[in-house]
Amino acid sequence: MFSLSPVEFRDSPIAGRGVFARRRFTPGEVVVAYAPAQRRVAAQSAEATAAAETRLTLASGDTVIVPDTRVPGGWLCNHSCAPNATLYASGAGRIQCLRPIAPGEEVTIFYGWVSHNEAGRAPCACGAPACRGSIHFDVSDEDVKCVTVTPERTVVVSQPLRRRLVEYEQFLHSIDQDHVQENLAKMLVRLALRK
Ligand SMILES: [Zn+2]
Repeated sequence: MFSLSPVEFRDSPIAGRGVFARRRFTPGEVVVAYAPAQRRVAAQSAEATAAAETRLTLASGDTVIVPDTRVPGGWLCNHSCAPNATLYASGAGRIQCLRPIAPGEEVTIFYGWVSHNEAGRAPCACGAPACRGSIHFDVSDEDVKCVTVTPERTVVVSQPLRRRLVEYEQFLHSIDQDHVQENLAKMLVRLALRK
């Protein structure tokens, strides 16, 4: 059957169902809406936490966009350590082309997940030459000891965490995902203030 949809949703060699281009995309183009059917829930709610465990949710200010999983959309995009698209949270959320995408190619994004004491939780199978081996950047309790927040709210990071952060920062820059650093910084400050 002929379809005008610029993407299709089918089984992926990376994981589960993925999003695949049906035509060529050029950088800057919107590839697919994040979730054609969605609900917004408060970021601190139990529902937001539960949804984050089972599917890709999207934080947007004080709310979290929870996709209706009966309707496929950009939320099905797999993670890659060399993504060809970027997820933007503004408005209803969208997946935008980062590098030229050929018809048939899987559309991938960089999740930028940060975990705490869960190294090895989500091994990465993206197959990119520079694959990090894990979808998460994991922060251990040892790492948290390296973070100090001064009364003036300045964040001081000592070794060995500082070296890891610099490496990650350089990696993110190399794949045009510098914005991911913000999630990580927020998480480090939250954990450091809790200790
Ligand atoms: Zn990878």
